[in-house]
Amino acid sequence: MRLEDWWYTTLMGTPLRLQPPLHGDVRTNVLIVGAGASGLAAALRLMDQGLDVTVIDRNICGGSSTGKSAGFLTPDSELELSQLLRRYGKDGAKDLWECAQWGVNRMVSTIREHGIDADLQKQDCLFLGEGKSGPKEVRDELAARTSMGYHVRGYTASELSSVIGAVGFTGAVRYADTYGVNGLRYAQALKHVLIDHGVHVYESTEATAIDGHVVHTHLGSITADHIVFCADKLPRTLTPYFWNYYYAQTFLAISEPLRPQEVTAMFPEEPFQCWDSHFIYAYWRLTGDHRVLLGGGSLWTTYAKADTWTDRIIERIIRRFREHWPSVHRVHFRQFWMGRIDMTRDLMPTLVREPTAPWVHYILGCVGLPWATFCGDFTARHVLSQTALEDDRFYRYFDPRRRFVLPLWAEKLTGKRVSFVLNQFYAKYRQVDAAAPRSG
Ligand SMILES: Cc1cc2nc3c(=O)[nH]c(=O)nc-3n(C[C@H](O)[C@H](O)[C@H](O)COP(=O)(O)OP(=O)(O)OC[C@H]3O[C@@H](n4cnc5c(N)ncnc54)[C@H](O)[C@@H]3O)c2cc1C
Repeated sequence: MRLEDWWYTTLMGTPLRLQPPLHGDVRTNVLIVGAGASGLAAALRLMDQGLDVTVIDRNICGGSSTGKSAGFLTPDSELELSQLLRRYGKDGAKDLWECAQWGVNRMVSTIREHGIDADLQKQDCLFLGEGKSGPKEVRDELAARTSMGYHVRGYTASELSSVIGAVGFTGAVRYADTYGVNGLRYAQALKHVLIDHGVHVYESTEATAIDGHVVHTHLGSITADHIVFCADKLPRTLTPYFWNYYYAQTFLAISEPLRPQEVTAMFPEEPFQCWDSHFIYAYWRLTGDHRVLLGGGSLWTTYAKADTWTDRIIERIIRRFREHWPSVHRVHFRQFWMGRIDMTRDLMPTLVREPTAPWVHYILGCVGLPWATFCGDFTARHVLSQTALEDDRFYRYFDPRRRFVLPLWAEKLTGKRVSFVLNQFYAKYRQVDAAAPRSG
C-alpha cells in the first residue's frame, strides 16, 4: 500500500491550473490567508460585493486538511447531537447543529450552482453503536433527534442486516441530508470560480509575518483593509491565540473499486456513510466509483505531536474493517495517507475579532468541512458588517476564553497533549455549559 493522498491522484487529468505565487507588493480590500474550506467560503461570500479580494495559500487551495479529508459532509463533526444537547440545552444545540447543517447545505448548493465535479454523493449517515457503551450511545442519539423534532430512524442489531452487510454492531441511528465529497477537487474547482469572479488567488504563497495592515510573504507583501486568517497550524508569530488549538491525527485508506455484487453485499439498500460510537472512531463510505474509503486512528497517534509516518495504524483499521464487513473482506486497499486536524479543547471552533486590531479576524480549530464553511462565511459577513445571524450570540460559543474543564494553568503541569485529551473527552461526555443568552 502506497503512502499517497488519493485526492491528489484524482486531480490528475483534470484541467485545473495552479496559480503562481505572489511576487511584489500589492494592496487589497480583504486578504484571506488560507484557502481550505473556511477561506474559500469567506471568499465566496465576499466576491461580487464590489470589494477587491485576495486569497493566498502556502500550499495549493485545499492542500491541507480540506484536501486530505474523508469528505463526510454531515453536521455531526466530533460532537453528536445528544452531546450538544447535554452541553448547551435545546436552544444552544439547535443553534450549533443548524450552523453545521447550514455548512453542509452551502457546500452542496455551491457545487450544484457552479457545476463543480467533486464526486458529490448523497449518502445518509449511519451512526453505529459498538462495544459496551454502543447501545446507550445509539439510544441517546435517537432520543436527542426525536426531542429536537429532527427526522431519524433507529435500527436494532438484527434490523441492521437489511441495510448493511456488516456484523458486530449493537444498533444504529440513520438520518438524511448528508453527503460525501472529494474536498480537494471541491477546493480546486472553487478556486476557478473565485478567479472567474475577479478574486486574486496566489498559491504557494505563505504568510510569514503580520505588521498592522501588512502581511508579508516570502516574495512580497499585501496591504489590506481587512485580514481574515483561515490558516491551519498557525505559528505564534501570526496569532496571539496559538494556545487555543492543537491537532488530532487521523489515517485514511482507499481501495480498488468494488464489483457490483460487492457493493450490494456491503450496502443492500443504498450506500451510507458510517462511523462507530468510540471516542477514537472508525469510519467508512463509498466513493462514486465504488471504492471503500475508510479511516480511524489510535489514542496515541491521534494526539501525536507530529505526523506519524507508519502504516501500522491503517493496517489495524483495515483488519477491523474486514472483521466487521465479511462480505467484502477480500477488497484490496491501494493508498493510505494521514492528516492532522486543528482542534480546540472543547471541539468547537474559535472565532476572534481581534480587539486591539479589529481589522484582523481569526478562524481557528474548525473541526469538519461544514463547520469550516460556516465559520468562513460567518466571518466574511462580519467584514461586510452584516448581522443577520445575531452575531453576538454566536460569538459566545466561539470565544477563545470560554471555559475548559482543565484550566490553562494546569496545562503547564500536564502538557498540551494530555490537557487536550482530557478536555475533549470531558467536552464530549460530561460538560454542561451555561446556556448562551438569546437576543430576541
Ligand atoms: C485526514 C483528515 C480527514 C478528515 N475527514 C473529514 C471528514 O470526513 N469530514 C469533515 O467534515 N471533516 C473532515 N476532516 C476535517 C476537515 O478537513 C477540516 O476540519 C477542515 O478542512 C478545516 O478547514 P479549514 O479551511 O479550517 O482548514 P484547512 O483545510 O487546513 O485550510 C487551511 C489552509 O491554510 C493554509 N495555510 C496555513 N498556513 C498558512 C500561511 N502561513 N500562509 C498561507 N496559507 C497558509 C494551508 O495550506 C491550508 O490550505 C478531516 C481532516 C483530515 C486531516
